[in-house]
Order: sequence, then C-alpha cells, then structure tokens
Amino acid sequence: MDLSFTPSEQAFREEVRAWLAANPSSVEPDLASHDLETRVAAGRRWQRRMHDAGWVGVGWPKEHGGRGVSLTEEIIFHQEVARAGAPELVNVVGINMLGPLLIEYGRPEQKARFLPGILSGDDIWCLGMSEPGAGSDLASLKTRAVLDGDDFLISGEKIWSSYASYSSWCFLVVRTDPELPRHRGISCLAVPMNTPGIQIRPLVQIHGDKEFCQLFFDEVRVPKSALIGELNRGWEVVLATLHHERTTYALSHQVVLQQYVAGMLDAAREAQRQGRSGIDDPLTRQKIAQAMIEVDVLGYYSMKRIGDIQKRGLGAESSVDKLYWTEMNQRLQDTAMSILGPYSQVTSGERAVADGRPIHAFLHSKADTIYSGTSEIQRNTIADLILGLPR
Ligand SMILES: Cc1cc2nc3c(=O)[nH]c(=O)nc-3n(C[C@H](O)[C@H](O)[C@H](O)COP(=O)(O)OP(=O)(O)OC[C@H]3O[C@@H](n4cnc5c(N)ncnc54)[C@H](O)[C@@H]3O)c2cc1C
Repeated sequence: MDLSFTPSEQAFREEVRAWLAANPSSVEPDLASHDLETRVAAGRRWQRRMHDAGWVGVGWPKEHGGRGVSLTEEIIFHQEVARAGAPELVNVVGINMLGPLLIEYGRPEQKARFLPGILSGDDIWCLGMSEPGAGSDLASLKTRAVLDGDDFLISGEKIWSSYASYSSWCFLVVRTDPELPRHRGISCLAVPMNTPGIQIRPLVQIHGDKEFCQLFFDEVRVPKSALIGELNRGWEVVLATLHHERTTYALSHQVVLQQYVAGMLDAAREAQRQGRSGIDDPLTRQKIAQAMIEVDVLGYYSMKRIGDIQKRGLGAESSVDKLYWTEMNQRLQDTAMSILGPYSQVTSGERAVADGRPIHAFLHSKADTIYSGTSEIQRNTIADLILGLPR
C-alpha cells in the first residue's frame, strides 16, 4: 500500500489551503451562533462563497458543476477544510447524498433542475426515510404514494428528518405498491417542502437544537416527474444513499478528530486536579494516547478504503466505516468530558469552556451511533454481508 501523495495531489492540497487561508470562515462569525436559524443563514452565505470559488461538490463530475477531482483529492479537500476550522456545508445532505444519487439515477431534466441549486445552497435538501414504525427496519415503511392521473398522491408520516425545517426539497421514500414483497414496491420522490398538505413539526434534540423534524403528509400532490429512479425499484436507491452517508463522514473526519484530540491535550495541560496538572494523571495520559492511536488508525484505514472504493465501489464495507468512526468519536467525547470535569457542563459565562462547544459535541455524538443505521444494524450488516456469518 502506497501512503504517499502524488505531486499533483500535493499541489491540490496547497491550492485548497491557500484559498482557505485567504478566505477564512471567520468572515461569517454567525457560523458559530448558538441559534440554529442564524447559523443556517450564515451557512447559506458561506456555501455560496465557496461555490462561487468552485469549492462545492469537488468530487462531482465537471459536466454536473463539480470539480471532477479524484476520491483521494476529495479527502484532501475535507482534510484542509477541517484543518482551517471551516464548518460543514449547510446543504450537507444535498451535496454528499442527493447530488451523487441524482447523478447516478436522475433523469437528464432532474439533473439540470436540481444539481445547480444543491451546489449553490439555494435548494437545501432533507431525507424523508424513517417513520415511527420504520427505522432500523426501513423496508416496513408505510407512507403511501398512489398514482392519480399524472400525479402521485402522498399520505403518511416521517420522523427524524434532519434539516427539514429549512429545506426546500425532500428526498421522500414511499410505498408505491403494497402488494409487492417489502423491499420491492418502494419508490423515491423529490418533493417540494412548500407543497400544500405537508406539515413540519420540529423536534428538540438532547443538545437543545431543533435540527430534525416530524413530517406529516395529507394527500400531498406531486407530479409523476418527481420520481427518482424506477417505479417500485427505490430500495436500490435507498441503499446507495445510505452507503454514501456512512462512508463520506468516516473518510472526511480524521482531521476533525485529530484536532479534537489536540484540544483535549491542551485542556488536560490546563486542567488542575488536586494541585497538579491534569496531564500528570496517568489515566488521562493513557486515554489521550489511546485516542491518538485510534485517530491515526482511522487515517490509515481511510487510505486503504479509498483504494478499495476506487476498485469496487462503496459496498457493505460502508458499515465498517460508520461503525468505527462513530464509536471512536463517542469514546473521544467521553474522554473530553472526564478531562474537563464539572466545567464541561458550563455553557456560558466566564467559566464556560470553549463557549460550551465540548458539551454540545458530547451530546451530539450520542446520535452518531443511531442515524444512518444504528451500531447494531451496522454489526448485523458486517456479520451478514462481509463475514458471511449465519443469521
Ligand atoms: C440525529 C439524527 C438524525 C437523523 N436524521 C434522519 C434523517 O435525516 N432522515 C431519516 O429518514 N432518518 C433520520 N434519522 C433516523 C435514524 O435513521 C433512525 O433513528 C435509525 O435508523 C434507528 O431507527 P429507530 O430510531 O426507529 O430505532 P429502532 O429501529 O426502533 O431501534 C431501536 C433499538 O433496537 C435496535 N435494533 C433494531 N433492530 C435490530 C436488529 N435487527 N438487530 C439488533 N438490534 C436492533 C436498534 O439498534 C436500537 O438500539 C436520524 C436519527 C438521528 C438520531
């Protein structure tokens, strides 16, 4: 395995780094706001700025508005964004999941209609998959779309739909034929969120943000042209979406986590325990060393995965990607909490650590092993599809 970067990859890294140095995300101070709406508005401005410079959808093909860079360069790009401390783009679902899907499964007119808005951030997308009775067992979903002349008529309920309150489009997974076996009879639709009959109810998460929502559909009418992929063959599209989601984060997160561990080291040096520096505590040292090792392992693993993906595509290994980084992140966050001690709980005022971000990150990490398939489901997939263990 060759772990070195080619001269052109190095040059690409320099180009990204130089642009981010000249255009720091600090030009949008509201990106760090505690208020979701303020943060989203700043996120739109930041995405527009990056888009204007050609830095959104770098891995998308050029003919679809991307930069057409290789997977390795895409990872380099994410590394540099993380190193510069720039935030995740506001249209993260659109760029990482819907764009690649539309490029693969969309009709030419859908690509022309949707891809530019996804890149510019004018059209933010959410995913409408989970339902109150269909999470891990997604194929049991019940939201119905019935053909009525030239339209689909949608009725049902979705839940945990991230970013739905400020999305203009929903990638909605519906049952179009209840007579077919469970994994058949499912289709995917592009639904404008302002269509009459859609009710959006934001839900408060453990960290206080209302990032995800419950969605109610009461005879919502969309044209037949909303169909993405083939009628009743949407399961294939759903699996592709999940593979994209599971892998993208794992491969792009190493530098974020590296910086997190560096922050833990600083915090341990500053923390005082019974008159001694926190870093003198052997257990703390051991935990930080363990965290450093795990983050390095993720880095090497990512390099190996890039090679595999280039040869064989994403596949079921995306479950390994997701399982490793999310459980590791939770261990890191636990360590951060134990280093900061009671101060981790202070979110404002002069004793607040980093403006309350560590406790927010700790609470946010609890969701990592749930969304995009829980850890138990990833383990089942690995056992079943990779290790070939009996059910
Ligand atoms: C922050 C966040 C954002 C999300 N964003 C979205 C989104 O944008 N769009 C969307 O559609 N959904 C979203 N989800 C929903 C997410 O995909 C589901 O929560 C997840 O798939 C689990 O489904 P569930 O909550 O219904 O739990 P359940 O499926 O009811 O599972 C409950 C428990 O049982 C375990 N379990 C279930 N089946 C098995 C099994 N076969 N073997 C072993 N254990 C099992 C699970 O691991 C879990 O611990 C989000 C969730 C979170 C937390």
